[in-house]
Amino acid sequence: MSVRLCFRNSILKSCSISSNLTRLAERSWMSTISPKFDVVIIGSGLSGLAAAYHLSRAGKTVQVLEARDRIGGRAWTDDSFGFPVELGCMAIHGYNEGNPVLGYAKSLGLETQLLPASPPTVVDQDGPVDVDLVAKIRANLSAAITHMSSVASESPTGSSSAADILLAPTSPLYTGLSEPDKPKATALARALEIGWGIPMEDASAHWSGWASGVAFAGSDGIVVGGYGKLVSSLRSAAEQTGKASFTLNARVSKVTLGKDNAIEVHTSDGTSFSARAGISTIPLGTWKTLPVDFFSPPLPPRKLSAVSRTAVGVLEKLGLLYDSLWWEPASSSFSILLESGTALAVPISTSPPCLHVLVPHRLAGTPASEIHRILAKAIAPGKDVPNPTKVISSSWKDDELSYGATSSPIRVGEGRTPLDLAELARPVWGGLLGFAGEATEMDHRGSVPGAILSGEREARRVQALLDRKDRA
Ligand SMILES: Cc1cc2nc3c(=O)[nH]c(=O)nc-3n(C[C@H](O)[C@H](O)[C@H](O)COP(=O)(O)OP(=O)(O)OC[C@H]3O[C@@H](n4cnc5c(N)ncnc54)[C@H](O)[C@@H]3O)c2cc1C
Repeated sequence: MSVRLCFRNSILKSCSISSNLTRLAERSWMSTISPKFDVVIIGSGLSGLAAAYHLSRAGKTVQVLEARDRIGGRAWTDDSFGFPVELGCMAIHGYNEGNPVLGYAKSLGLETQLLPASPPTVVDQDGPVDVDLVAKIRANLSAAITHMSSVASESPTGSSSAADILLAPTSPLYTGLSEPDKPKATALARALEIGWGIPMEDASAHWSGWASGVAFAGSDGIVVGGYGKLVSSLRSAAEQTGKASFTLNARVSKVTLGKDNAIEVHTSDGTSFSARAGISTIPLGTWKTLPVDFFSPPLPPRKLSAVSRTAVGVLEKLGLLYDSLWWEPASSSFSILLESGTALAVPISTSPPCLHVLVPHRLAGTPASEIHRILAKAIAPGKDVPNPTKVISSSWKDDELSYGATSSPIRVGEGRTPLDLAELARPVWGGLLGFAGEATEMDHRGSVPGAILSGEREARRVQALLDRKDRA
């Protein structure tokens, strides 16, 4: 930036342009202070979009700053195969159990669809696993989870992991199973790690299932056409109010509480935005990497230690497109038991054939060709299977604007509790700077409803704050 500025200055000087003009040019080059907005929102994921939607409909002027060249964040529908492939969130969990996505979809005119409840076909590295054995393991796993909830709440908070209880030799998980079948039970239990994003050995047993009584769960559905439809509809609805504007490729590099209590947000290209209040939706993984002076005045120590005590899990998505169908067309999805855990492959289309793979943390970074080989051997053992013709994949783990999939369950460790997530949500600077995003919703962390509810929460809070100030 400074090099380009010097270059520009030398041209201006050599052209003998007046010093006033030079000063003016320099000022606009270095920093553009935009008109004051009511609220500046950092990030256009579902939390930022929900906040922008509500605030703009409430008549507040809103500026959304997004570092990427697209909106949606971890809601990312790719259409390059000619149909939607979800590289981030896919399911509306708790479709019939109150997930707020349904209400949004209805009011935005989007179609949703309940998915069939059929459980995945379980296969291991050599082919299908006996269905009676699978039924027995599933029943055992459910008994083991019930057992864990009853003993874990009594165990000290920082000591036992979910693995200590679920995978203990005496766990109900292994009741009545032969020695050779026990590893299959372990692998199927590790399917829990797909959503957790961390090894069971790291997840606190004490807090395991803590939110399950209130989290949206049960039936699953989808937004027809993908979550990208919800993302673009929220943006359009906010923009149609005439109150919201979105700036892409605007990476925020500093947030300060300026003169007259204005929130000043600076982006890496030297532009500054000023607003009466701000909402940061920077994902937890990225938040962990921010320099100490990113927020000035600095965040309180209690908040900073909550940021470091909480964790982000890993989950990747992989789309594999084939020329010809090589699995049973009627199959709903496949759970693939591996020595390291379980992967899930969901056929999302049979014409053209496409598998949508949920790649758990232990397999993250494995080349697509290797994952295809594992799937082919497990789903169609001994058959000649075509190679994929097109591949698309996510890399959330290495993406500097997320550094992981979502916040993880509470990890083992003294002093770690779900209150850490509540601490992440607490506003600072007299309430003028708020925090939203999936990691800030204690009861719904790691999910689309968590992101949306957090955006609604901060929008309502900031709206009330500004209205109070206006009345004063
Ligand atoms: C692989 C995967 C599968 C998932 N599956 C499901 C599912 O099936 N169902 C479900 O309910 N949930 C699922 N989730 C979780 C769900 O996608 C997330 O909880 C939700 O999308 C998070 O929204 P958010 O607004 O909190 O964060 P994000 O969507 O990450 O939004 C934050 C935004 O901030 C931007 N940003 C970051 N830093 C800056 C900066 N300095 N300046 C400006 N902008 C910045 C980012 O680019 C991003 O756009 C899944 C997530 C992943 C990764």
